[in-house]
Amino acid sequence: EASDAKKMIEAHELLKKFYHHLLINTKEGQHALDYLQERGMTREVIEQFEIGYSPHSWDFAVKFLKSRGFPLDLMEKAGLVIRKENGEYFDRFRNRVMFPIHNHHGEAVAFSGRILGEGQPKYLNSPETSIFHKGKILYNFHQARLHIRKLQQAVLFEGFADVISAFKAGVSNAIATMGTALTDEQARILRRNVESIVICYDGDTAGVEATLRAAELLEKAGCYVRIAAVPDGLDPDEYIRTYGLERFRHNVLEASGTLMAFKMAYLRKGKNLQNESEQIRYIEEALKEIAQLSNPVELDYYLRQLADEFSLSLSALQQQLERYKKTRT
Ligand code: ATP
Ligand code: MN
Ligand code: MN
Ligand code: MN
Repeated sequence: EASDAKKMIEAHELLKKFYHHLLINTKEGQHALDYLQERGMTREVIEQFEIGYSPHSWDFAVKFLKSRGFPLDLMEKAGLVIRKENGEYFDRFRNRVMFPIHNHHGEAVAFSGRILGEGQPKYLNSPETSIFHKGKILYNFHQARLHIRKLQQAVLFEGFADVISAFKAGVSNAIATMGTALTDEQARILRRNVESIVICYDGDTAGVEATLRAAELLEKAGCYVRIAAVPDGLDPDEYIRTYGLERFRHNVLEASGTLMAFKMAYLRKGKNLQNESEQIRYIEEALKEIAQLSNPVELDYYLRQLADEFSLSLSALQQQLERYKKTRT
C-alpha cells in the first residue's frame, strides 16, 4: 500500500538522522566514530554519506519508532525490527556502523550495518522489503547520477567503503552493488544513464571472477566496459589507504584497460612464460578468448598482438582460431 511505503520510508529517514546524530555528537557513538576515523573516513564523507551508529541496545529502534507512532508490525515489514515468538519486538541493527541505502529518488529505504572491527556477519543488510529490492538499487546512485551523466562514465565498485574512499579521491561518479552480484536490472538502469562503465572490483580472486561476470552482463546490456584492476589482492579502499588518492586515480582508474587486456593479464598470472609448455598453454588460452570476440576489428587487433609478442605467424594463429570459433560457447 502506498501510505505504508511512505511510512516505511519516513521511519528510515528519521532513524538515519538519529543514528547519524548518535555517531557524531554522543559519547555512545564515540568508539564507532574512532573506528571510522581509523579507517580514514573524514567528517566530510561521514556527512556526505549520512553514516550513523546504531547503539548497543535491543530496543533502541523499537522505542524510538513506537514513540513516534509507527506501528511495529509495519516496522517489521520494513526490516527495522524483528518479532519474537512471544510477540515482543527487538532491533535488527545493534552496535553497528550504519550505512543508509537510498533509492534512486534519494529516499532512505534500507540500511547496511557494519560490525566494528572483526566479527560475523561483517555487514548486516536490511532484508528484501516492499521498498527495498537489492537487485534494483545501486548504492550512491542518487548522488552520483548527475555526475555520471556529466562525465559520461560510471565507476562500479563492490563495496560501500570503496565508493566512499573513491569519493574522497574526487571520484563523484562512483556506485556499488549491494554486496551481491550485479543483476540484469542494475545493468539496464546503468545503460539508461550512461554507456561507458569502469569496473573497479576487489583485486582478490572473488573480485576478479565477479569482474568477468559483471563485464559480460554490462556488455550484453549495451555498455562499453573498461576494467580498472587493483593490484596485490587489495580492494580499492585498501589501495587508497595504502598508496594514497593520487596513485589510485593515476595508477588504477586512469590505467584502466579493455576487458580483453584484463583477461589476458589474468591468464598470464601464475604462469612462467619463459617456460615453453606454459607459454604454449597461454597462447592457446588467449586464442580461445580472442575467438569469442564478435567485433572483427578487435579480433584482428588482439590476434596481431599475440603474434607479435611470441613471434608467431599470423596465419598459424588464424588457422587455430578458426577451430576455436567453431566450438564457440
Ligand atoms: P570492509 O572494507 O568494510 O571490510 P568490504 O566492502 O571490503 O568491507 P568485502 O568483504 O569486500 O567487504 O565485501 C564486499 C561487499 O559485500 C560489502 O561492501 C558488503 O556490501 C557485502 N558483504 C560483505 N560481507 C557481507 C556479509 N557477511 N553479509 C552481507 N553482505 C556482505
Ligand atoms: Mn571482497
Ligand atoms: Mn572489499
Ligand atoms: Mn574493504
